[in-house]
Amino acid sequence: MVLLGPPGCGKGTQAEFLEGQFGLVHLSTGDLLRDALARGTAAGIQAKEFMAKGLLVPDSIVLEIVSESIKSSIRGGFILDGFPRNLNQAKALDALLAENNLALTHVVLLEVPAQVLKKRICGRLVHPASGRSYHTGFCPPRIPNRDDVTGEELVRRPDDTEEALEKRLGVYESQTRPLIEHYSLTSQAKKSKLRLVRIDASLGPQEVSKRLAAALSPSSQ
Ligand code: AMP
Repeated sequence: MVLLGPPGCGKGTQAEFLEGQFGLVHLSTGDLLRDALARGTAAGIQAKEFMAKGLLVPDSIVLEIVSESIKSSIRGGFILDGFPRNLNQAKALDALLAENNLALTHVVLLEVPAQVLKKRICGRLVHPASGRSYHTGFCPPRIPNRDDVTGEELVRRPDDTEEALEKRLGVYESQTRPLIEHYSLTSQAKKSKLRLVRIDASLGPQEVSKRLAAALSPSSQ
């Protein structure tokens, strides 16, 4: 499954829900890149300035960093969060899946208007080790600035600034949004098993999870 949507639409939160609900592996390229950066790997260091500016990290770096993770978790079913982000990556993913005799079953599009995204992103706090995210206003942690599960400190992402967000939204519109058309066409092809599911993700996280579970249930297929 691929989770598609602009920054702040709740991909990470819903991926965590789906992981628990359906036993899928959550692969977030943003988390993989932040982890590579924290470990000081060559790929992480190269990715740093692109991420800080809200730009896409070059495909060669992303594809290298994700292909191993995808291959190692491919058997059990997985949720891709933040990948693919452009047509080139989508084609690379199609090829990788085809090589392994697999195909995507769902592309879930989480739709949220830009003004809601800005409010969400500007108050976001994250727990780096797990990727869990909170919001100072809408979804505060039980203890201020501490992760509910581990009690560890929460941080603000360096790219969660208004300036970087403007860039990230622009990049989403120009490079990622065309994937909706790509997957829509794929889903209409003869014998395609792919379903494109659109969810109104401007609602609260629990309501979005409820709608997502209903849309993915076998009875709605
Ligand atoms: P995210 O956590 O998904 O919001 O990603 C944070 C940042 O990591 C993005 O703004 C990009 O700079 C980089 N990134 C994550 N996934 C990708 C990808 N598939 N392709 C290129 N850059 C990515």
